[in-house]
Amino acid sequence: MTLTEKILARASGKAQVQAGDNVWVSADILMTHDVCGPGTIGVFKREFGKIAKVWDRRKVVIIPDHYIFTNDALSNRNVDILREFAYEQELPYFYDVIDDPAGTWKFDATKGPVVRQHGSSYAGVCHAALPQKGHTRPGEVLFGTDSHTCMAGAFNQFATGIGNTDAGFVMGTGKLLLKVPETMHFRLEGKLQPGVMAKDIILHCIGEVGFDGATYRAMQFDGEGVRSLSMDDRMTIANMAIEAGGKNGIFEFDDQTRAFVDYRCNLNGTKSAYQPVERDRDEKFVHETVVDLSKLEPTVACHPDPGQRKLAREMTSTRLDRAYVGSCTGGKTSDFLEFARILRGKKVVIDTFGVPATPEIVHDLQTARWEGKTVWDILVEAGVRMTENAGCSACLGGPVDTFGRMNAPLKCISATNRNFPGRMGHKESMVFLASPATVAASALTGHITDPRDYIQ
Ligand code: SF4
Repeated sequence: MTLTEKILARASGKAQVQAGDNVWVSADILMTHDVCGPGTIGVFKREFGKIAKVWDRRKVVIIPDHYIFTNDALSNRNVDILREFAYEQELPYFYDVIDDPAGTWKFDATKGPVVRQHGSSYAGVCHAALPQKGHTRPGEVLFGTDSHTCMAGAFNQFATGIGNTDAGFVMGTGKLLLKVPETMHFRLEGKLQPGVMAKDIILHCIGEVGFDGATYRAMQFDGEGVRSLSMDDRMTIANMAIEAGGKNGIFEFDDQTRAFVDYRCNLNGTKSAYQPVERDRDEKFVHETVVDLSKLEPTVACHPDPGQRKLAREMTSTRLDRAYVGSCTGGKTSDFLEFARILRGKKVVIDTFGVPATPEIVHDLQTARWEGKTVWDILVEAGVRMTENAGCSACLGGPVDTFGRMNAPLKCISATNRNFPGRMGHKESMVFLASPATVAASALTGHITDPRDYIQ
């Protein structure tokens, strides 16, 4: 069996499963957020009754993160609906925007979008927050009401996005009927060259198979090339499995996985026992791609979908209006460090926005110092508009007052993960997906630029 099949066999109580089998799978974690949480709760209450209790209150994780720092009253109200539900159900893992359990959330536009407005338990973008808060464990099944839930496959788990109706059912029963996906195999060899990042690996892979080439399939990433990839790198890659249509992305378990997960579970007091899955000799794959990491170059996914692959050096005639670093995919500490390495001591020439994925990442950037200056200050001095309000922000467009949202038909180079028309706001805007290094180099020139031009 493949890694995915092994997890689904265990989660369905079977010795063996194969692609195409329909199995009832037990969930280890159900995650929801402010966009889909209210709908999920509505389904749960309608189907299980107004006074029903969730199947396991320690397995339901609620993370408001999408439309938070906005004046939009309905978006603010969604956060309050989550809070009411979390207190009614006595959920221990609700990462509220405010500290007052009896309060209501209201974004204060007079303070502006840049200065921190959230309370102490706010966790930021759900997919980055889940591992930071100790909710991702090898060998487990994670369902989330968000398509990029697949990011947790970096931790050797089966993680996939589901709709509100399925999530309402999982909330009541802890189970879901799933068809076991076929597995596509991506064997990574060699090591990345300077200026090339994990984002380039996944843009390359999606370019190989197309934006629908992995539809309802598992994308398994393994091989000796994985060893040189950090957990942040693996998260970037697994995150974008859905951009090829994948059901999930999954990595092998190794010492790095163990160190990360053990540290995070202990730090947060979450469940620390888990059972990883290892590769079998009899794995059956429906596709094989071998990627020599040492041959990859900075890559861009052009408008209008993540499969439109080109090399950054072939795109220099594309002029840009905006640059954006942020999101679950591209707003991690390591992403901002690469971004800052290129921008350090220079000035951007186009509007450039930086939105860390979580408050912990904001803290990292405000405390990490290079020659006496914080990375945060280095970015601000380079002209980047950095916000302390970690979250999804303009990755998904959002209400018109969302920080970084494209409210005009602009061209943006972005470290985010999706570029279908209208994704970051205006329906005639264009988004070019790239690594934080490529975004940085492009912000310095105003056109798509190979970051290796800025690496000594
Ligand atoms: S940062 Fe973007 S891709 Fe990630 S969860 Fe938020 S909206 Fe989705």
